[in-house]
Amino acid sequence: MSKIEAPRGTRDILGDESWKWAYVRRVAQGVVNDFGYKEISLPIFEHTELFHRGVGQTTDVVEKEMYTFLDKGGRSITLRPELTASVMRSYIEHNMARGSQPQKFWCIGPMFRYERPQKGRYRQFVQLDIEAIGSKSPLLDVEIIDLSMEFYRRLGLKNLQVVLNSVGCPECRPLYKKALQDFLAPHLPELCESCQGRFDRNPLRILDCKTPSCKAITENAPSILDHLCPDCRAHFDTVIKALEKLGAEIKLDKRLVRGLDYYTKTAFEILSGDLGSQNAVCGGGRYDNLAEAIGGVSTPGVGFASGLERVVLTMESQGATFGKEPRNRAYIVTADDTAVLEAARTANILRASHIATDMDYMSRSVKAQMKTASGTSDFAVILGQSEIEQHNYTLKNMATGEQETLSLEELIDKLK
Ligand code: AMP
Repeated sequence: MSKIEAPRGTRDILGDESWKWAYVRRVAQGVVNDFGYKEISLPIFEHTELFHRGVGQTTDVVEKEMYTFLDKGGRSITLRPELTASVMRSYIEHNMARGSQPQKFWCIGPMFRYERPQKGRYRQFVQLDIEAIGSKSPLLDVEIIDLSMEFYRRLGLKNLQVVLNSVGCPECRPLYKKALQDFLAPHLPELCESCQGRFDRNPLRILDCKTPSCKAITENAPSILDHLCPDCRAHFDTVIKALEKLGAEIKLDKRLVRGLDYYTKTAFEILSGDLGSQNAVCGGGRYDNLAEAIGGVSTPGVGFASGLERVVLTMESQGATFGKEPRNRAYIVTADDTAVLEAARTANILRASHIATDMDYMSRSVKAQMKTASGTSDFAVILGQSEIEQHNYTLKNMATGEQETLSLEELIDKLK
């Protein structure tokens, strides 16, 4: 029979990598605690309509990338491609506007997008998602950006760049859209096929097209920053001033757009200089009109999502540390078959004393067991016939080679 492999675009994170992920998760948890964010756990699948209305019909995600299916009850269900819409759905559903504002949430979990897989781009990937809902304050945008930077600082990431823009609001964006269309109209035949389709539906997305010919055309396109209304301008200026006060180095980029009506004002990305083409470690921004798009009352919000595969890849390529790889404290080596029951009892006692312990289950030779002990554990606890008769243990330090004979109580004391 043919063997079955993991679906294209998915990854098995195995033991030699998963401890690195555990480290990244621990660091994330420390940061979100320090910023006062609370964990939220949401379904992996939602009604498809949430993403049609909450991500937008004209986005690549909704048009091409969603895992959508009918369940046995005939409902259209989608594996979540992102989390912001779900968090806002939950905020509205549980009437969280009643509590003190803003409400701040964090979550780490898998997202699903049918994309062309490559390094740093998968069909199932894990995001750290951060959302702060209920305040219009530009200082909350700054907090979000600061939180993301603090996360990367604690992980020791270098060579990052914060890229910032404003995408305006429903008041000023239509005027900008018109100015952009007027600028692009004479070049329409030279744009790539996708961008020709975007020209009427979503012209802002043409600005972040990666096709060289489109990039060349939009090089001199008008900037949205010259078209902001007074409210969006003041908001943007405060964000920049406050970030400068924090000592953050930022680069303004008029091409950074989200292009959907409910994304408003601040848009930002953090790029890694060590990732190749999939170089965004995080993307985020403000979405003051999202709540209304999914049936709630007007509620401002701001957030970001960071792809943890890309974070781990960047850390590996920069030689960052993931803390200490976890090792067992003790490995029980049995010198003959009569000792195995005693070995199992000893493992039980050590583990109950919070000492990470393993033992042999394959009836291997002492030599093979000692090799495993030295690869996986700080100490070998050797249990042979004479130890069993004399009710003691030989403890070998795998780093120094030192050996001593100990009673059970002494063994526990020593290993703790
Ligand atoms: P987005 O929701 O598209 O703004 O993405 C936010 C972040 O998630 C990006 O900056 C990436 O770090 C990560 N990300 C998005 N799509 C993928 C993917 N297909 N594979 C891995 N990471 C991704």
